Amino acid sequence: MSKIGNYVVGLRENLFIECPECGGEGRCEYERAVPMSFSNPHGYLEDYWADCDNCGGVGDIESDPYDEQ
Ligand SMILES: [Zn+2]
Repeated sequence: MSKIGNYVVGLRENLFIECPECGGEGRCEYERAVPMSFSNPHGYLEDYWADCDNCGGVGDIESDPYDEQ
């Protein structure tokens, strides 16, 4: 492998960034649809907290410059 190739691999292994989804908290507020019930004929959206899907609750993600979002 060339020197340039080794340099790029090293960067990818070491660079972690704060997760943009949860801001480093590891938990994120999500909404889920609650289906209608006898007391609520329309259903509603309920806020709830859960482990961040983006970082798996860690709060940091490995930066991937080749990841096209
Ligand atoms: Zn996250």
